[in-house]
Amino acid sequence: TVELVPGHVPPEEIDPADAKDAADRLRAGEGFAPEEQEKCDVRSGNDARDPASGPPSSGIVPGVDVAMVNLKGFDAHTREKIAENMPHAVAEHDVDEFIDLVSQTMRLDAVAGADPSLESAAKTIAESKAATPAHRACAKVLVKLCAKDPKEFKAKSKGVGLVVIRDGGIPRGEYLGAYCGELYPAWRWFEKEAAAQAVRRDVKRDDEVPTFYNAAVERDLHDPRGYDVLFIDGAVKGSVLTRASHSCQPNAEMRVRIREGKYSVEMVTTREVRTGEEICWDYRCQTDSDKEMRRAICLCGSKNCRVSYLHYNGESELAVFADENCA
Ligand SMILES: [Zn+2]
Repeated sequence: TVELVPGHVPPEEIDPADAKDAADRLRAGEGFAPEEQEKCDVRSGNDARDPASGPPSSGIVPGVDVAMVNLKGFDAHTREKIAENMPHAVAEHDVDEFIDLVSQTMRLDAVAGADPSLESAAKTIAESKAATPAHRACAKVLVKLCAKDPKEFKAKSKGVGLVVIRDGGIPRGEYLGAYCGELYPAWRWFEKEAAAQAVRRDVKRDDEVPTFYNAAVERDLHDPRGYDVLFIDGAVKGSVLTRASHSCQPNAEMRVRIREGKYSVEMVTTREVRTGEEICWDYRCQTDSDKEMRRAICLCGSKNCRVSYLHYNGESELAVFADENCA
């Protein structure tokens, strides 16, 4: 469970001086705004060039705009297996639409409080008068596949996600809110991460893939106060956006803005998000562990799924970067 907080809260585990220091590092240089903020389109109504002004709105509200529910998804392999087994008479784009409809039906089941399984979603579509004949034909086949091989044709739990429930959906370019949580200066963050890793190793669970309820906030290179980096941890205390899932085909993105003189990591929609769709962004997390990457199976279920939600930046890439930048 997570306690929802409207703004950044000082980290509890670190001493008060560090918490104060972290909050101070969030302050921007006098009157400074990043280039993107200065160039933004003020007519859109959800952005502001003036770094002294506040956010355009309170952002999305759970229970009003989105439902925070436990969701299930399927990996790229399962999506491929489903597509392979669909009737040959059904066109490829109809198959793609059908698989997206399965994901959508599972989300709606979750919002309704039902168990979001692949089989029940297929049954719903097979019997739906609103579905096209092609989609119904695909659904009938999927029902049989689920019964025949329930291990292969199975959705897996992907934790809490945010499903849009607002009538009419959320338009493109809407401000969804700030990514808030406990704030850590970089050195404390890495100390904490190292300690958490040691605990996982001690209890022989070092094979666990870390969960990502955190984001980094960087102070702009051109900020008169200089470059800096802070970490926002939303694992225990976080705003609703810390629960948005990863997708390889996202509909929202993070951006850095200065609001009331302080750095803020915000989320905005990059396209219209219809009712029943999930708000998701591309985590773009990096790992230098090939093992970790292979275990981080993505369950976004999208056609463009990259299989893992982690990007592998192999040792050689790191070496190249060091050669070029640390001479
Ligand atoms: Zn994916």
